[in-house]
Amino acid sequence: ATPAATMVGTTIGAQNGVLFKGGDVLERVRDVDTVVFDKTGTLTKGEMELTDVVAVGARSDGGDADAATAADGGQLEHADESLDDAELLRLAASAERDSEHPLARAIVEGAEERSVDLVSPDSFENVPGHGVRATVEDREVLVGNRKLLADAGIDVAPAEETAERLESEGKTAMFVASVPAGANDGQVVGVLANADTVKETSKEAVRTLRERGTDVWLITGDNERTARAVAETVGIDPEHVHAEVLPGDKADAITEFQSDGREAMMVGDGVNDAPALAAAYVGVAIGSGTDVAIEAADVTLMRDDPVDVVRAIRISEGTLSKIK
Ligand code: ADP
Ligand code: MG
Repeated sequence: ATPAATMVGTTIGAQNGVLFKGGDVLERVRDVDTVVFDKTGTLTKGEMELTDVVAVGARSDGGDADAATAADGGQLEHADESLDDAELLRLAASAERDSEHPLARAIVEGAEERSVDLVSPDSFENVPGHGVRATVEDREVLVGNRKLLADAGIDVAPAEETAERLESEGKTAMFVASVPAGANDGQVVGVLANADTVKETSKEAVRTLRERGTDVWLITGDNERTARAVAETVGIDPEHVHAEVLPGDKADAITEFQSDGREAMMVGDGVNDAPALAAAYVGVAIGSGTDVAIEAADVTLMRDDPVDVVRAIRISEGTLSKIK
């Protein structure tokens, strides 16, 4: 394109809140054939809210009786404990108190709204992409996904049915496990769920992209069932979902699209997304994205509107003209 055409495109972009990092970016965008959306904060508002607190009873198999006896008699903290919902929330929110993860913030706020008093954990460990482990009073509390519990040798089965029900509603279910002091194993004691709202224009953005012949994908660290429920809501083919992708692996997933000979655009908002934005043919930081994401991106969308992805492509194609 001529310098003049580039300038027109850049100007129209700026008027629409679409900032291209240079003329070469403006020209690259039109060749995009695949758009990969991050889920949380990109297709959804990223405003998590605690919606469900479900205590689950003692283990169903009864196959580990000696662990129960080992955890010394008399006290509540034996391996077959069952908690009420308020106590479940108190333990989980106390464990999450020092985490900055949006899921954690929603749990802590949810506890505060329900007037549950939290305690300061004696130790706290963040397990990226999985959850947290913390020492709360006399026990270790784990809050996170299936993998977090499985890695600690804790059976999620007693909570699986509840979690699956919540996940099919598009919610993020988090398992809570308790390992009493002195016990050699722990058990799942409940499930919490956070809900997020899909942005009003996500569906329109996906539809318009698909009409253009663009392949649309969703990528997330969240579990498969939740991701598919959100994909269905916004009109993304459930087969086009990459779920349970660890923070460090998003970039590899994008690089795979490139190796398939695609020109992939990655759209994301979070610190997690920065390497993937950098790896993509075109990286797009959306809305109130973090500075790190904006830094790594080729295009920044000033508004929080997924339809601006379509505008960016139209501007690059020269098919979006000046608006008044
Ligand atoms: P996302 O891309 O959804 O933000 P992350 O990679 O940060 O995901 O985390 C992946 C999954 O790990 C989450 O969906 C959740 O199940 C679990 N997880 C991560 N951090 C926490 C936390 N602080 N509390 C509970 N669960 C967590
Ligand atoms: Mg995000």
